[in-house]
Amino acid sequence: MKLIFEKGKPGRGCSILPPCDVPGAAIPLALARKSPPRLPWVDENEISRHYSALAKRAFGVNDGFYPLGSCTMKYNPKVNEETAGLGGFTGIHPLQDDRTIQGALGVLDAAGRYLTEITGMDAMTFQPAAGAHGELTGLLLIKAYHAARGDNGRTKIIVPDSAHGTNPASAAMAGFSVVNIPSTGEGCVDLAALRTAVGPDTAGLMLTNPNTLGMFDPNIAEITSIVHQAGGLNYYDGANLNAVVGIVRPGDMGFDVVHLNLHKTFSTPHGGGGPGSGAVGCKAVMEPFLPRPWVKKTDGALCFDHDRPQSIGQVRAFHGNFLVVVRALTYLLMMGKEGIPEVARNAVLNANYLLSRLLDTYDAAPAEVYKKGVPCMHEFVLSLERLKEETGVSAMDVAKALQDKNMHPPTMYFPLIVHEALMVEPTETESLETLDAAADALLEIYHQAQHDAAALHAAPVTTVIGRPDDVKAARDTEIRYRFQ
Ligand SMILES: *Cc1c(COP(=O)(O)O)cnc(C)c1O
Repeated sequence: MKLIFEKGKPGRGCSILPPCDVPGAAIPLALARKSPPRLPWVDENEISRHYSALAKRAFGVNDGFYPLGSCTMKYNPKVNEETAGLGGFTGIHPLQDDRTIQGALGVLDAAGRYLTEITGMDAMTFQPAAGAHGELTGLLLIKAYHAARGDNGRTKIIVPDSAHGTNPASAAMAGFSVVNIPSTGEGCVDLAALRTAVGPDTAGLMLTNPNTLGMFDPNIAEITSIVHQAGGLNYYDGANLNAVVGIVRPGDMGFDVVHLNLHKTFSTPHGGGGPGSGAVGCKAVMEPFLPRPWVKKTDGALCFDHDRPQSIGQVRAFHGNFLVVVRALTYLLMMGKEGIPEVARNAVLNANYLLSRLLDTYDAAPAEVYKKGVPCMHEFVLSLERLKEETGVSAMDVAKALQDKNMHPPTMYFPLIVHEALMVEPTETESLETLDAAADALLEIYHQAQHDAAALHAAPVTTVIGRPDDVKAARDTEIRYRFQ
């Protein structure tokens, strides 16, 4: 495919800028460019076709089933785009006087109130740009909390080995050392290991519940209380709240600080690098440390309060990805109090339905738990270790074969504690027919593996490229056009 710089002809173009309606400013000569910018010479038709061609090469939620575990690729209602596109939201400037942006402040205030209610927290910030950024922010709050009490020996964050990879990375970035504890065979926290790990140097624990195996940890109250008794705080990785939203609140499970990925659970488009929103909520004891500025109400009007002396400071320019918050608030208002718990119920139902169609054929992890008939939550993990031993067909092969059936692969080789893992999260927005088609596809691939492994090693054959070198594609991308 030609790059846009290789299309068109010098002299062609399509300037559609409106006439300038303000006096021209004189640009100092030293700052002015010496030669015109090297822009592609294409007309509107060519631009339109170029981007349509690119879009056809991508696979998004709008193209088909997208069961990417932990990522919650749910349908993003179009009404979200309508509100996020309103001129009153897109046409404002972050330095505008607070009195002229009462509507936008109202969005932050309302979204904060609903989401603190949903998480069982007391206060929330929308500055962090995405989940991992929210983790860093939350951990800095924990650090500030201990420091403010003069409790300076708390340098360690406990992270179970089943955690999302961003958790230990964020803890290290916040200046903590990371203590890894093993999970039980059921993917849950090993209580004995946790009791041994906590002590006067414990700053806190980071946990996802349900965990990355899609299991709700039945000992959650005991886990958070062990950490509290040792003087630590509990951090809830709520990037993916789909299994419990509106049903169970992290605050009631004993957590003190939580981040949410509004771009997962609260339905704003993601992938390809954003924009996201890693909203961070915390209990009242940590509120003074939240990033500034902060929305508050005075004399009936809302304003940004910059006077927060104990704040960890600003973690992002201005107020975060504001339009993502507009989308999330739209979603909350459209779903309403009854709709939100339905999201969780249907997410869990869909995952269990799909799993039940696969369990006679595929191995699910943790096997012992499923043998007991315990349901999964919003996602489940298949282990293809046995299939690989028997036929040579790996999790990678199965994932690639799904692409030929116009489905996005599940998350692969995660969590690390399961070998040949495929982590499947169907979400609540898929129909019974789609789930059945996915089950049929996976069963067909399994049977094909028994007699035609070679075809699966060669998949995908219907995509523009087959199997790129993953490492090279991620580490060595050429994104600059080299002009002759
Ligand atoms: C997605 C995810 C994250 C990271 O979120 P980003 O927005 O990608 O930074 C962290 N933890 C869990 C459990 C996740 O699913």
